[in-house]
Amino acid sequence: MTQADYLWAPAPVPSVAVRASAQRLPVQRLFFVGRNYHAHAAEMGKPVDKSVERPFYFTKSPLTLTPSGSTTPYPSETKNYHFEMELVVAIGRAGFRIPAERAHEHIYGYACGLDMTRRDLQLLAREKGRPWDLGKDVEHSSVCGEIVPMPGKVLDAGTVELSVNGQVRQHSDIGKLIWNIREIIADLSLFYRLQPGDLIYTGTPEGVGPVVTGDRLHGRIEGVGEIALTVGPAAD
Ligand code: MN
Repeated sequence: MTQADYLWAPAPVPSVAVRASAQRLPVQRLFFVGRNYHAHAAEMGKPVDKSVERPFYFTKSPLTLTPSGSTTPYPSETKNYHFEMELVVAIGRAGFRIPAERAHEHIYGYACGLDMTRRDLQLLAREKGRPWDLGKDVEHSSVCGEIVPMPGKVLDAGTVELSVNGQVRQHSDIGKLIWNIREIIADLSLFYRLQPGDLIYTGTPEGVGPVVTGDRLHGRIEGVGEIALTVGPAAD
């Protein structure tokens, strides 16, 4: 098909920069794991008992992807826009019903991510039993740093940290994930045929909080890299 086959020019393929490469990773879908650190689940008032629960997920449109280093507008219809610092897994090989012990074969690499959230709308949706889309699928809310290729590598430890205006607000370790990388890939692939370019945001540790216009966010994950975001004024 050429552009002439479409009514108007199709949108560009959503993509993320890859470290030390001129080629970008074309993004397929964005998956997010909910409540995947005990201390964060507790601060949200919903503790997790892994012995009787399974992980849960939500998705966002890939159109919400925003590169690290961006300044994004404070979104509309919220008074409580929150940061959530997360490890992102990039899938590099398709798979369905992937056994946990083979999960590493489907990993292309990792990145630092921010799952920015209209917390007031997310909590309202939670309370009313409505979908989370307005709280989570926020324009510019899926911030992603460069993908660091680590094919076949399972990250099972490493500091994850987020600072706002130079003050540390989130500090934890990948080793504290309730469901680890292997378990997430295995479980998510029971529901979805994972595809190259699927990104999985693995959940945030405790310490989430609101941002205001002018805030400068800086995150890092040991062994992966860094991410930055500036919160701009509300868009017209
Ligand atoms: Mn999150």
